[in-house]
Formats: sequence, C-alpha cells, structure tokens
Amino acid sequence: MKISIYPGSFDPITLGHIDIIDRASKLSDELIVAVLQNIDKKSWFSVDERIDMIKHSISNLSNNIKVMSFDGLLVDFAKKQNANIIVRGLRAVTDYEYEIQLAHTNRELNDNIDTIFLTTNLKYSYLSSSVVKEVATFNGDIHKFVNTYVENKIKEKVASIKGFKII
Ligand code: ADP
Repeated sequence: MKISIYPGSFDPITLGHIDIIDRASKLSDELIVAVLQNIDKKSWFSVDERIDMIKHSISNLSNNIKVMSFDGLLVDFAKKQNANIIVRGLRAVTDYEYEIQLAHTNRELNDNIDTIFLTTNLKYSYLSSSVVKEVATFNGDIHKFVNTYVENKIKEKVASIKGFKII
C-alpha cells in the first residue's frame, strides 16, 4: 500500500493546497494531510481549527484522504504512519531552494522516504496562506483564494482580532 504525506501549516488551507491534495490523492492509495503543530511559527488558527477547515475543504474529494496533526520530525511521523512518500507543492523558483534543502535533509534522516514535488496549478501560483491573511486583514475579497467555509472562518477571525485590539 502506497501511503503519502502532505505536510504543511495550512494556516489556513487555500485553493492552492486543495489542488495539490486532490492531485496527490490520485497518486497514492492513501494520502495523509499532516498539520504541523508549530511552536515558533505564529499561526492565526489553532491546530483543531485548521484541521476542521481542511476537513470541510476536502469533503468532495476522493475518500482516501486522512487529516492528522504532528509535531517533531516529519520523517519520524511518516515512519509511524508507514508512509514513504512526502508530497510538497512548488509554486515558483523561490520555493525551490527551501524545498530542496528540506527534501535532502529528510532523505539524510531516513533514506526510505522520498519527496515528490507537484507543480502548482498556474492559476494558484501566486497564492499563499500569508497573502490570504494579509488581504483579509484589510477586508479585501478573498473568495477567489479559499472556499466559502474557510472564507467565513477567516472573516470571523479578523473580526475577533480587530475587536480584541479595540478593547
Ligand atoms: P504556505 O504558508 O506557504 O501556504 P504551507 O506550509 O501551508 O505554506 O504549505 C504546505 C505545502 O503546500 C508547501 O509545499 C507549499 O509549497 C505548498 N503550497 C502552498 N500554497 C500552494 C499553492 N498555491 N500551489 C501549490 N502548492 C502550494
């Protein structure tokens, strides 16, 4: 059985991520979307909120997709899940340097696990979670970047952040 892992922060999940999940799920028997419980990276959404948004976003995709969270080393999590493929998305040359470093490091740590790269769907090549958050902060229209459920969650978050600041 071919099990792949697609790791990331998904803070929040965008249409670019969903496109990669859809395509990667067709290449494996099982795909695990793994949400990083990052301690130092400041996230807008908790791990549970991110998982909830991912689950809503993939409900109409293939049923061989699982959503989990992990901390610690990705290769250790992959081994525990019997996965030997890591999936990453490549948007532009700027992604390449970091991604190649990560892939080589993971391969050094465990050479049974390989990284495969899926090139972005051109229409989402500019898209990142940070861009979505930046646009949303200034009340810009984000409906072309995320699905409706996620859009509403982001709006609620922006309102709560702004409300919190006023108080
Ligand atoms: P980001 O905060 O940059 O969106 P994530 O950690 O959530 O980053 O990303 C997880 C993976 O998804 C990374 O491999 C990243 O390159 C990829 N990814 C993010 N956005 C896109 C996109 N629009 N198209 C293709 N891949 C993407």
